[in-house]
Formats: sequence, C-alpha cells, structure tokens
Amino acid sequence: MIFGIHASVRNGLLESLSESRPLGVSTLQILPYRRHHIPGAEELAQFRKAREKAGVSRLIVHSRFVPSLGSGDSERRRRSIELLSQELALAGSLAAECYVLHAGAYSTGDSPEAAGLRLAQAVREAVSTAEATFPILLENVPGGGRRMGAELEELARLLESLRRLGISSGLCLDTAHAWAAGYDLSLEGGADDFMSRAESLAGASAIRLFHLNDTLAERGSRLESHWHWGQGRLSGGTGIAFLLARAGYESVAAILETPKEPGADARNLAYVRRLARKRESGR
Ligand SMILES: [Zn+2]
Ligand SMILES: [Zn+2]
Repeated sequence: MIFGIHASVRNGLLESLSESRPLGVSTLQILPYRRHHIPGAEELAQFRKAREKAGVSRLIVHSRFVPSLGSGDSERRRRSIELLSQELALAGSLAAECYVLHAGAYSTGDSPEAAGLRLAQAVREAVSTAEATFPILLENVPGGGRRMGAELEELARLLESLRRLGISSGLCLDTAHAWAAGYDLSLEGGADDFMSRAESLAGASAIRLFHLNDTLAERGSRLESHWHWGQGRLSGGTGIAFLLARAGYESVAAILETPKEPGADARNLAYVRRLARKRESGR
C-alpha cells in the first residue's frame, strides 16, 4: 500500500499541501473546502500549481457534508444532491483521483433497500451535474441506528446499486470503523475474514482505498473513534500487519486519519511503515 495522510484545510486549501513534504508522502486526503469558504477559480488554479510543486501526485477528496442522499424526505435529499454536486465539482477542479462518501442513514419507517436505491439515483444526478469523471468510493462506517454501510454485505449492495446506474464507483475500507462494526481486525484470522469477505462480495478491484486508523472504541460498539497507532486496540495483534501485506493492494492508497497533534502524523506513519516492513522481512 501507498501511505498518505489526511491533511487539514483549516488554514485553506493551499496550506494543506504543506503537510506532505516533511512527512515524505505524496498522497493526501483533504476535505473539498475550508468551512464557510468555497474557493473560487483563482484559488483552485493556485492550488493545482502548488500541488504540482509540492509533489502531491495523488489527491483524495473526502465529503465534507453529512449526506442524506437516501432520505425519504425529498427536500432533504434535494439539498444533499446540491451539496454533493458542488463538492464533486470542486474535487474535479482539484484534480482528485476519487471522492469518498458515507452512505448516511435511511429514514424512519423506510427500508435500507429503498434508501439505497434512492442514494444511487441521487449520486447519479450529482455526478452528471458536476460532470465528475473520477470514482465515488463508499466508505464502511461504524453503523448503529439507521446508518447504512457498516456491514460488508450492505456496503456491497449499495455499491451494486451505483454500478447498475453506470456510476464509476468503489469502496474505501476504514479499519477503525470495521472494528466498531464488529470485525476483529486485531487478529490475522479476523483481518483475513474481513478482506476475503469484501473481495468476494464486491470484487478485489473495487477496493480502491483504505483508511488506516487505530481506535479506542470497544469492538462492535458502533462508536466513532480514531486513535494513534501503537496506542489503540488494533495495535496489539498481528491483524493490521497481515492486512498491510495482503497481495493485490501494492498501489492502493492507505490514508491515516489519526488525531492531529504536533509530531503525531510522523509517529503514526513510522509505525505503519514499520509494520509493513516487518511483515515483509518476516516472509
Ligand atoms: Zn470517512
Ligand atoms: Zn475513514
């Protein structure tokens, strides 16, 4: 895998690029814009130029808004489609290689199946409005309540709905979210089961991105927690090293979304790089 980090756009799009070089990464994930500040054409052009100079060869954009694309409330859905198409247009201007989306929740009294079909229609509409040419990656989530996309079966079904409408799409697998949904990625067997299941349900080529996060949450707790490598529940066992060494993902990006404290990205990167090396030399 190719390691990268989630860079903050808090100080602007251009500033996010400065995180890459000191860490020796050329892959970044960012949100499409800073809060309350939609970049104009000039800023986007500046970004593309600065990005080239910074050597950021791969850029992933993660959705900023909380989507209600599958909602039964047509007004909420309409608003979500507008936001999605705005973010997709920005991702296109930033020359992103893909866009990561959570499936969101289904409405009370509705079914996840019906919501999944609505979601696919909504994504198709936004993709066509924004003239997006890059893939939309659905991310697995911790789940709980009516949130969709925690179980691999459901995630694969949602992906299938996108594919049926001809939408270029794939999956993003988040280690902390998988753990919170109940998958035991701390052990080799658990990591193998998880990956084998994802590959057989969606096809290995659908898995286009990983989010590499440790977590403080209990397994199966459905709680959102991203924590530093070496300090969470996924770090004790051999599962993550096994996952990092899995064949077929050599050029797939793996993004750290661990907490931002001074020096933390460098430490977390060093940890996962060490894990990947250890596994390789142990073969
Ligand atoms: Zn996410
Ligand atoms: Zn994630």
